[in-house]
Amino acid sequence: MLDVEKIREDFPVLSKKVYGDLPLIWLDSAATSQKPRSMIQSIVDYYEGYNANVHRGVHALSIESTAAFEDARQKVADFINAESSECIIWTRNTTESINLVANTWAQENIKAGDEILVTAMEHHSNLVPWQKVARDKDATLRIIPITEDHSLDLSEIDSLINPRTKLVAVVHKSNSIGTVIPVKELAAKARAVGAAVLVDGAQSVPHMPVDVADIDCDFLAFSGHKMLGPTGIGVLYVKPDVLERMEPFLRGGEMVLEVSYEDASWNSLPWRFEAGTPNIAGAIGLGVAVDYLNGLGMENVRDHDVQLTKYALDAFKELEEELEIFGPKDPAARAGIISFHHPDVHPHDLGTVLDRRGIAIRTGHHCTMPLIKSLGIPATARASFYLYNTNEEVDALVDAIKEALRYFGNGVGTSG
Ligand code: PMP
Repeated sequence: MLDVEKIREDFPVLSKKVYGDLPLIWLDSAATSQKPRSMIQSIVDYYEGYNANVHRGVHALSIESTAAFEDARQKVADFINAESSECIIWTRNTTESINLVANTWAQENIKAGDEILVTAMEHHSNLVPWQKVARDKDATLRIIPITEDHSLDLSEIDSLINPRTKLVAVVHKSNSIGTVIPVKELAAKARAVGAAVLVDGAQSVPHMPVDVADIDCDFLAFSGHKMLGPTGIGVLYVKPDVLERMEPFLRGGEMVLEVSYEDASWNSLPWRFEAGTPNIAGAIGLGVAVDYLNGLGMENVRDHDVQLTKYALDAFKELEEELEIFGPKDPAARAGIISFHHPDVHPHDLGTVLDRRGIAIRTGHHCTMPLIKSLGIPATARASFYLYNTNEEVDALVDAIKEALRYFGNGVGTSG
């Protein structure tokens, strides 16, 4: 069990008041999480105490910054049970990590007639890059549909994953409806036909234990900013034998070994994939965020999400007649996210009314436009929870929604 009151003291912004004296209720962690003081301080410490470029200097500060930068890489590797820190490539975010695979591995490995398989729940970051690869390579993009209760529909999976499948690229936990995907099962089926597996872990790695050896994936992409770390730092894990055969993505300084006017040879792994000066402070900050999560225990973080989701689903029962609530009914199958829609109240209107009560939720298509369209709605309102949220905040959300619906029921709102 997490000691949430104690945890909240570590997050300076959670004591902020908005619109005068309203306590901030942050229910938008799926967009970005709040940051603990230790993580913020690690960035200040770096800039105040040992700011220097990494891997380049023979001087004391560069040696210190390089050690901290590489130490953070090892922490991230251990966090997801990667074979070694060599499998961890720093990027800017999940989006860049996936684009790296699309621009390197996919260029060499996807051929005309091949199939790339994604789910109907993909974030645009794990859809749009594969649309381009499929178009450029004359390959086919196929979609695993969803069921009525918004789980993944695996009824046709044995024909969707077939000998033509070269890549199964799937979200681990949907950011818009919260569904958790059975990635291990899909990876085993992909392996059986010789396909590679990419997991978009943007929403799973911050919220549950994720073990790349257990899943047996080739690629795992995630973002620091959703897991208590700073913005501008992301991770791409690549399985060692796959990484060794990949061509570099960006070319320039740091990723080379020998350069002549005519040619260049590549640095060893993983630096071959990190051209230019990296986000040093960001990596160090992410390492400290990982320390924080390890201190709580990822099983506990997941359990807290599940408990809050269960509490919220129960509390939302009062609104069941008025709201459509998306995602599986089982809290453990969709932990941490509640997405909902009212037939007569546009989510933006609802979100604005909640905001005036200090409650931050996200409204829109959540970068999953095809999914939201397939649900037959323009957008959803989404509350997302993390390790610092409480049952009382869920109560405040439900009360505020009731109040907003009364307000719009009086004919003041716009209809969606
Ligand atoms: N995939 C999923 C499932 C996400 O939730 C997000 C962020 N909303 C992304 C990818 C993209 O993450 P980023 O914007 O940090 O690249």
